[in-house]
Amino acid sequence: MNKIDVVIIGSGIAGLTTAYYLQKNFPDLTYKIIEARNDLGGTWDQMRFPGVRSDTDMYTYGFTFNPWQGPIIGQGKDIKKYLNDTAVKFNIRDNILFDTKVTSLSWNNDQWTTKTNRQDFISQYVICCTGSRDYKYPNFPKFKDEDKYQGEIVHTQDWQNTAIKDKNVAIIGSGCTAVTMTPAVVKEAKKVTLIQRSPAWIINVDGQEKSTRLYKTFETLIDYFHSRLFKKSYKKKIIAKYPYYNDTNVPAYDFWNQRPACSLDHDYFISLKTNKVTVEHQEVSNWEPHGIKLKNGKVIECDLTIMATGLNAQILGGIDIVVNDKTIRLNDTSWYRGMMFSGIPNLFAHTGYINFSWTARCEIVSERICRTLQYMHKKNLTTCTPKYVGKKSKPAIEANYVLRSMDKFPNRSYKFYNANYILEYLIFKFTRINDGVVDFK
Ligand SMILES: Cc1cc2nc3c(=O)[nH]c(=O)nc-3n(C[C@H](O)[C@H](O)[C@H](O)COP(=O)(O)OP(=O)(O)OC[C@H]3O[C@@H](n4cnc5c(N)ncnc54)[C@H](O)[C@@H]3O)c2cc1C
Repeated sequence: MNKIDVVIIGSGIAGLTTAYYLQKNFPDLTYKIIEARNDLGGTWDQMRFPGVRSDTDMYTYGFTFNPWQGPIIGQGKDIKKYLNDTAVKFNIRDNILFDTKVTSLSWNNDQWTTKTNRQDFISQYVICCTGSRDYKYPNFPKFKDEDKYQGEIVHTQDWQNTAIKDKNVAIIGSGCTAVTMTPAVVKEAKKVTLIQRSPAWIINVDGQEKSTRLYKTFETLIDYFHSRLFKKSYKKKIIAKYPYYNDTNVPAYDFWNQRPACSLDHDYFISLKTNKVTVEHQEVSNWEPHGIKLKNGKVIECDLTIMATGLNAQILGGIDIVVNDKTIRLNDTSWYRGMMFSGIPNLFAHTGYINFSWTARCEIVSERICRTLQYMHKKNLTTCTPKYVGKKSKPAIEANYVLRSMDKFPNRSYKFYNANYILEYLIFKFTRINDGVVDFK
């Protein structure tokens, strides 16, 4: 059994951020990052569909400790390279164990045992950086008669080397993924049909824009609060700005209920105007041998169907958690500051913002974790366990993937300001670690 101070699970943005802050604050601490995949980057290693890129500006999506030097919107492969460069620059990469999947975590005798498919670890702390998605099972709607369809079906999360050239392609879905991939698919395909139940909110980003982290932080947050306080007028403003929207083509949800999709230099809107593209605002009824039948009876002929239908949310990577021989159901816990769970000692977990940069939250949570560890070290404490607080509450965001998984989520009634980076920044930095909600022993 390997004994170390901290086990970090996952080598995406959260895992790298955690490692950076642990190294900075505790140079003598021993840690390992356990990663199921054969490379780092998490989302940016897995997502390889055409056109994959960030939706958030890279001024806020990049790390503060290694600012992004490229254009305002990062392409998928460039973000992956940036994450790798960061891991190498700060000597983090050597601490990653690849191809190693954590299967269970059990807490006994004031320490964690982390079981993996290769070797097991004992540590005082575990920090889960497993992202928000089920890596194996994305959201894949099952329509009738799938076995009759003779074309190829691919989900964007499982993109391999799917050929697009000269194909009749249907893209199902209207969110960020559909918006970013459409221009890239249109370039190669013979014909593209976009099948959308309801459009997404899309904003255009000028690819040449130069800015700063501070400016982008305030701009996004002011935009967000404006859209909350003046819902109707804000919606009207967006609809008036983009001719893409009209009386029948308006998103079914409020602006900023989820991160708006990003059109880069109007590429999405331009691609819609080409004679290769048709948009169908309809639900799917069933598969046909040569295509997809819509609920209005129309059949869309296609030899490749791309499911841009999103993800299934998953907290803590679906890992079994056992505390003193009792299996924990996350749904029975409360989510302490969106970084710990009641009744689970010495386990921290990251989740980012979905209406602001994910990385920004990973950084403030990492700093708070370090402050907690410093406090415990100073006071000679061994365990920290949040108490159960409050009742079930509504999610802060109403993205479909969150609503689909509410029965797996902890309640978030205790101080989890998902929508407010500035407030969380101040709270995480300046409030007492021993705030009465965490039991320290
Ligand atoms: C296409 C796309 C575009 C996005 N664009 C943006 C954007 O512009 N801005 C933004 O803020 N957010 C964006 N996001 C959200 C994105 O997921 C986060 O920004 C961020 O990359 C998540 O990082 P993470 O480290 O928390 O999780 P992930 O990147 O998901 O990494 C989790 C890691 O944990 C590993 N893991 C999981 N379970 C286990 C296990 N049991 N054992 C070992 N390892 C395990 C996984 O293999 C993975 O490497 C986007 C998401 C997608 C899918």
